[in-house]
Amino acid sequence: MPTYARLPVSFTKGEGAWLIDSNDERYLDAISGIGVCQLGHAHPAVRDAISRQAGNLIHTSNLYTIENQEKLAAKLIALSGLDNVFFSNSGAEANEAALKIARLYGHHRGIEKPAVIVMENSFHGRTLATLSATGNPKVRQGFEPLVEGFIRVPFDNIERVSDIRDSNVVGVLVEPIQGEGGVNIPASDYLSRLRELCDQRGWLLMLDEVQTGIGRTGSYFAYQHVGITPDVCTLAKGLGNGLPIGACLARGEAAATLIAGTHGSTFGGNPLVCSAALAVLETLEKESLVQRAEALGKILLESFRDKLKDNPSVTDIRGRGLMIAIDLDRPCGELVSKALDQRILINVTATNTIRLLPPLILSDEEAQILVDKVTSLIQHGL
Ligand SMILES: *Cc1c(COP(=O)(O)O)cnc(C)c1O
Repeated sequence: MPTYARLPVSFTKGEGAWLIDSNDERYLDAISGIGVCQLGHAHPAVRDAISRQAGNLIHTSNLYTIENQEKLAAKLIALSGLDNVFFSNSGAEANEAALKIARLYGHHRGIEKPAVIVMENSFHGRTLATLSATGNPKVRQGFEPLVEGFIRVPFDNIERVSDIRDSNVVGVLVEPIQGEGGVNIPASDYLSRLRELCDQRGWLLMLDEVQTGIGRTGSYFAYQHVGITPDVCTLAKGLGNGLPIGACLARGEAAATLIAGTHGSTFGGNPLVCSAALAVLETLEKESLVQRAEALGKILLESFRDKLKDNPSVTDIRGRGLMIAIDLDRPCGELVSKALDQRILINVTATNTIRLLPPLILSDEEAQILVDKVTSLIQHGL
């Protein structure tokens, strides 16, 4: 089905931060399959883990204990500070689990029509519940009737959340940094003030870290930059380096809502995808790649600011770790195919924003190529 407006290129091989097309042309990958391949392409640790696991056992079922799943859950719990995990196959499904948790949490408290506060410009996925939670009207358009139980407010506006006095509210679902919405970074105290508000009102703070999680922003989870812990946290993109795995982590009362028979997934957390995620987490740690994302992000931001400071069409340059945005004063969607001609893969989101999500294994030399190519595109391609 024609659900994607695809670019006229097909890749046959990947090597680290590079993709190679069917004509043997090499492209620097500054988008990593939309924030998925944190370790780049064909990383030996992931390759070895999944080939070993595939030779042993790919799938059993959640009817049985799955050793890799238990190991991965233990690792995620230790890294996140949350209590338990449900494994899904995608980000949207991880958010579905979060929304089901919120509803059960509400019903346990005698709230018949639990509502979740969500944000303008948010993106939470394409299933019916997650598109209903999503801020972008284009994502919802045509799919009415939407799932009910959402109250929408502007992002990064604590007053508008605190003004809500609806007794049906059970939680807030928010991206720590909005990804699809344009790499929107909230005020430095926004998440901690949301945490306080949720504590006062008995609401669940549910963070969609599908894009920001797994080292992307220079900490394992973006909330760790501000020293808070959410009640629910969802992950997917970077977790499996390309194998389809999502996770919904929960803590405290939220962690006790989903019990046997209330939720499930045939494939979720199978031995193969968990072996990939375990390899990802081990490699991030062994190669200090989360610290690398933080340091390299600062270098990239500085370089872009320096090189583009005299360019009048650049209105803002911002980022956290390796989640970087360059805002232009006009729609710039056509830069994506111009970038392809220059052998670099970038993305444009929210009409005017160049979004860069390079792999965490990017070398200093590759970072320099990235800055040179993107700068030249902005200077000559607009
Ligand atoms: C990509 C994304 C999703 C959806 O993930 P899928 O795996 O495509 O279902 C949800 N939330 C955020 C913040 C995302 O960036």
